[in-house]
Amino acid sequence: MDCLRCQSLIESFLKQSLPPSESDEFIGHVKNCPDCYGELEVYHIVNSVVTQLDSGSEDEDIDYKASLRRMLERAGTQKRRRRFARYVFMTILATLLVIIYFLVRGIVF
Ligand SMILES: [Zn+2]
Repeated sequence: MDCLRCQSLIESFLKQSLPPSESDEFIGHVKNCPDCYGELEVYHIVNSVVTQLDSGSEDEDIDYKASLRRMLERAGTQKRRRRFARYVFMTILATLLVIIYFLVRGIVF
């Protein structure tokens, strides 16, 4: 993913509307690209402030940089969960195929 593509996806990422594969690529890029990370940080701060103003809350100072890091960590955790779920699914599928293979062989021969 290049910087132009990455920066065009920032708003979608913040709205959590990116498909998982694109979200993974996006996170991989921003973690290694200071320019895009900086851009994401600015969008995140602006979004958070607007949301805070809309809700009318006058909370104490929020650590926006920390909240962005948490958001990226959560997205990373979701990626690991998806990978684990895929692994479990493939293992079950492989087991079923082996069972079906032996059942068919047992019946045919
Ligand atoms: Zn970049």
